[in-house]
Amino acid sequence: MKELRGVSAKSIHNRYHREKSINPAERLYSNMIAEIIAAGSEMLTPFRQDTNSLYLTEGLNDLGVQVAFKTIVGDNLAHLTSAAIIAISRVDIVIFSGGLGPTEDDLTREAAAAALGIDLHADNAVLAALYKRFAARQMVMPSNNAKQANVLDGADVIHNKYGSAPAQFLDTTILDTNGKPVRKIVILLPGPPKELKPLFDDEVKPRLAASLPVRHLAKRILRMALIPESHIDARTAPIYQQYPDVETTILAGSGEIQLHFLCAKPTLADADARLDELTEKIEAEMEDAIFSSHGESLEEVVLLNLGLRHLTLATAESCTGGLLAERLTAVPGSSRYFLGGAVVYSDALKTTFAGVPTELIATKGPVSPEVARALAEGMRVRTGAALGISITGIAGPGPGAPGPDANKPIGLVYIALADSQNTQVKEFQLPGDRERIRLWASQHALELIRHHLL
Ligand code: ATP
Ligand code: MG
Repeated sequence: MKELRGVSAKSIHNRYHREKSINPAERLYSNMIAEIIAAGSEMLTPFRQDTNSLYLTEGLNDLGVQVAFKTIVGDNLAHLTSAAIIAISRVDIVIFSGGLGPTEDDLTREAAAAALGIDLHADNAVLAALYKRFAARQMVMPSNNAKQANVLDGADVIHNKYGSAPAQFLDTTILDTNGKPVRKIVILLPGPPKELKPLFDDEVKPRLAASLPVRHLAKRILRMALIPESHIDARTAPIYQQYPDVETTILAGSGEIQLHFLCAKPTLADADARLDELTEKIEAEMEDAIFSSHGESLEEVVLLNLGLRHLTLATAESCTGGLLAERLTAVPGSSRYFLGGAVVYSDALKTTFAGVPTELIATKGPVSPEVARALAEGMRVRTGAALGISITGIAGPGPGAPGPDANKPIGLVYIALADSQNTQVKEFQLPGDRERIRLWASQHALELIRHHLL
């Protein structure tokens, strides 16, 4: 929910559900991982950087493939072979950049073949193309160049119209150390970026996209306020543990707990259906405690619900000093439903802005259920809002003001919510320091409004 201004409650509701269907996790996901090996001694000097791997990583990520390792190796056959053996043993996709030229130090083909335990063969078509290339320039091809026609047994040759060495794409099955067959994709690309980039984009990416078991990832974020993490986990773990195909993470902080669920399936519909089933069970267990299931903040949800009911809100804040109003106004478009409020920190302003009787403050103290009630009701009437909410409490570290509040404990907070019929007043004893007490008080106030609107 980004913008509330100038839209009807119905369209907010529609948007809410549209955003549900374009949730950010609607992207491709593969459980295959990749390693990029950049061959070239110059990149082990202080003067040259490997930039090809950045380009390749972006393209792999587009396909939902995560790059797990990057290795830079000098032009040395033993080192290259060693890097290739390690890469082939630990990832599904190995992409080599560079070392496909005709010179002594271009060793990628040999290293990849040695690591895979396969042979190279001269590809006649590539050889013929090389001769033609030289003939077209009226040159005799040096014998060295013939090695650029060497191809890994079983690999597809990808013609390189930007240079002389073709790229190679090998999709093969090898036996792992336990004798189990495992699929490996090994790709050789020339080092010059002006060759590597178009070959990767035009030839390699489509081949990978067609051959990867790409899956769709769906995500849900269930957010709950003010409930201890251990409590939520005890109630929800028996449910989510029945979904081993769903990755669950619990995050806690700022008076809120988030349950993140991720699920990857061959289609987005499958992944969504699985998460819908799980979140329905969690929602049934946690009842109204879940304030959002697609990531909206508590203040967004409160404003959304005010909008759906065509209701307006005004605030009277003492110990939170405007924190509640600040959180509400941080949501773009909130002015349609949040009229405003007052920071009524002193006793006098509680009377001036919200009409709280001075005798009431003098006898009960500013931190009292009676004053909380009078603040909420007074602010509601004076602003013409449908709902008035007040927060008054002792945030510490010092004690309450002299008078009736002098012996009241730090963390004592009253929150009142008034509508045209009723006023409810809640008492809280909040733990922690001043900052935490103020944050939690604003959190309780938002929860009180949300529950009232349910
Ligand atoms: P060539 O036929 O040009 O020798 P090659 O496939 O053997 O091609 P390299 O010799 O490894 O490739 O690299 C050629 C040039 O490409 C390098 O001098 C460098 O300018 C550039 N290059 C190689 N690898 C990278 C890299 N990882 N990042 C950025 N530039 C690179
Ligand atoms: Mg080279």
